[in-house]
Amino acid sequence: MIPSARYAEVVLPVPVSRAYTYQIPDGLADHVVPGARVVVPVRRGAVVGIVTALNDQPSAVNDIKPISAAPDAEPALSDALLGLGRWMSDYYGAPLGLALRAILPGPLWSVARPEGPNEAAERVLVITGRVESLLERERVFKRSPKRRVAYEAVEALGGSAPLSHLVDRLNLSATAIDGLVRQGLARVDRVAQTRDPFAGLSSPPPPTLTADQQRVVAAIEATPAETPVLIHGVTGSGKTLVYLDLLRGVVASGRGAILLVPEIALTPQTVARVRGVFGDQVAVLHSGLSDGERADAWRALRRGERRVAVGPRSAVFAPVQRLGAIVVDEEHDASYKQGSAPRYHARDAAIERARLEGGARVILGSATPSLETLDLGLQGRIATFALPERIGARPLPPVEVIDLKTASRVPEAGVIPWTEALDGAVGGALARGEQAILLLNRRGFATFVQCPACGDVRSCPNCAIALTVHQTPAGMRCHYCGHEAPVPEKCRVCGNLTQRLRGLGTQQLEHFVASRFPAARIARMDLDTTSTKWAHHRILERVARGEVDILLGTQMIAKGLDFPNVTVVGVVDADTGLHFPDFRAAERTFQLVAQVAGRAGRGPKGGRVFVQTRSPDHHAIRAAAAHSVEAFAAAELPLRTPPAPPYPPSVGLVRFVASGRDEARTAAIAERVAAWLRRAGTERLGGALTVLGPAPCPITRLRGLWRWHVLVKAAEARALGRVVRAWRSKSHRAVTVDRDPVSLL
Ligand code: ADP
Ligand code: ZN
Repeated sequence: MIPSARYAEVVLPVPVSRAYTYQIPDGLADHVVPGARVVVPVRRGAVVGIVTALNDQPSAVNDIKPISAAPDAEPALSDALLGLGRWMSDYYGAPLGLALRAILPGPLWSVARPEGPNEAAERVLVITGRVESLLERERVFKRSPKRRVAYEAVEALGGSAPLSHLVDRLNLSATAIDGLVRQGLARVDRVAQTRDPFAGLSSPPPPTLTADQQRVVAAIEATPAETPVLIHGVTGSGKTLVYLDLLRGVVASGRGAILLVPEIALTPQTVARVRGVFGDQVAVLHSGLSDGERADAWRALRRGERRVAVGPRSAVFAPVQRLGAIVVDEEHDASYKQGSAPRYHARDAAIERARLEGGARVILGSATPSLETLDLGLQGRIATFALPERIGARPLPPVEVIDLKTASRVPEAGVIPWTEALDGAVGGALARGEQAILLLNRRGFATFVQCPACGDVRSCPNCAIALTVHQTPAGMRCHYCGHEAPVPEKCRVCGNLTQRLRGLGTQQLEHFVASRFPAARIARMDLDTTSTKWAHHRILERVARGEVDILLGTQMIAKGLDFPNVTVVGVVDADTGLHFPDFRAAERTFQLVAQVAGRAGRGPKGGRVFVQTRSPDHHAIRAAAAHSVEAFAAAELPLRTPPAPPYPPSVGLVRFVASGRDEARTAAIAERVAAWLRRAGTERLGGALTVLGPAPCPITRLRGLWRWHVLVKAAEARALGRVVRAWRSKSHRAVTVDRDPVSLL
């Protein structure tokens, strides 16, 4: 007999990388394996941890206690997912505990209920004793005709039926049903029932593939699975159907798949299309799910009952069995980056997971691929396939760039940038019963309040950022920390009695558009209108049903929407993000404008796009107007490549941010980080690092904390890896590390 291991290494979901040693009690040995969750005692109670290794000898000298429970029949984390946790910890320099915490859904970390939320169970009445002959029936039910009715009803339903159905729908007597059970003729079973809020959603089977789509599917299937592929298809080229067809092949071969979409693109439209192909095989991992629903979806995937997971960023960790493919739709989307440790990027995690799963394929898709992905394509590390045309040979909509400095404006618009050209187009669409989309990537009513006499701008006391004026509810709010203040009546500095609202927000735009087009039905979609569960779904369903004439909102409305009756798209102010002090400002603007432009003209009526800007000659605007990522990349890449100061993709980037309540101390910490990095660069990495800073972050104060950052660049990914791992071992709480940052603000 092989003696079983006596000790387990357990990683706890805390910002610590090391594992703790626990003793394995005899009775739990079967369930204590790498990847399994265990409940272990800690100083003041108990926590759920993950077993990472088994040993015969204790590897640490801590006071070794026994594991108290092992709730998993099968380990919660497969070897591949455990490996992915290690990779995230190493690549992003995050404590392993936090990397593992990101992989399992919240409810599975609850010590109070380590087995996870109860499975929703349904009580089902099952006939156990057969009463075959009519004569026998007469005898058995002689005194209880109601029991006989109940018995025969269940019999007619095939011998079993949910109690709720029998009592609520068929109005059978509950007493009679109890009687059947007491008589030994039936019993009540609890049957696990997966809660799935999307269960009703489906769409007709998908159309057959066009020749272009077929060509891309065949070419991808002929590509070795180890090579990630990029489908570079223009907006409306039918990428979704290509993904679904590829996934259908994967599922038909007995494997599972993950489809990642930007959070905001997880619309009823997307879900219905996926369900149209895979029906109940699909688990939708929406952020609006309850804990119970989330745990149900996770368990159904883990058990292999569902084979396709659809969801945002964190769905890259879905416990799909025999994973065959991961699709990353709109791979350029910034929401794929996690904002807190382990700060992973789902696209890169997908590539790593596919590698660890052995033979799983990664399929990236976008009309506006990120420069990082385009660069991997140029290096030959990703194979690119193009869908250059829209479905049905529909043209991409013509884009008119309107120079706000010179174009004639509608007089009634006052300070609102609303030109005659855009006004005429929206009015025309409404008159023809068509729909319009208006993008303004700034929520609130006005961006800030300024004193016209002294120029003072009201800013948040906790964050170095202007307060945004909101109309409903009225007041000024900080978009970073939520601080609220009344709209001032006079200047706090010079006492001037008039204060001016500056900068247009979506609330004010809605106001204006409603007065300009009083008959139009308007829906506004931004963070303020979509904070409740499913609000975002409800708005889009109204648009789909034609109950909305004008949909206006922030970048939320730019993604993935496919409404054939939208014939006019207006970008009210394309410059809102163009001059942010971030090397990706131009790329973001290009993607946003090109994507929202792609919402127009998806139906037979065609469509037109109007982009209002003060920078009509900026390469981001010009390339977006031409729907051309090639034109954008050609202009943008030289700006990020030497002799210009290099930025990704020509180098790798890591950002260290020090933050604290005391400004001087925070600056001093950042100073020490920079000194440590410079020393590491020269002494250990042969000068491979370029260290910039320290400098105050563009947002110098956030939620009461001062912020200073240091940027580190290196052409060699390996050098950056060594730096972040060396830093991880120092576990300095006042400093966060962000490798491949998507925001430098
Ligand atoms: P993309 O994601 O590339 O912007 P979609 O996948 O949303 O494009 O497809 C655009 C539209 O074309 C959708 O309405 C879709 O149903 C339709 N479509 C896609 N493929 C086909 C096809 N082979 N035949 C007919 N319609 C299609
Ligand atoms: Zn604030």
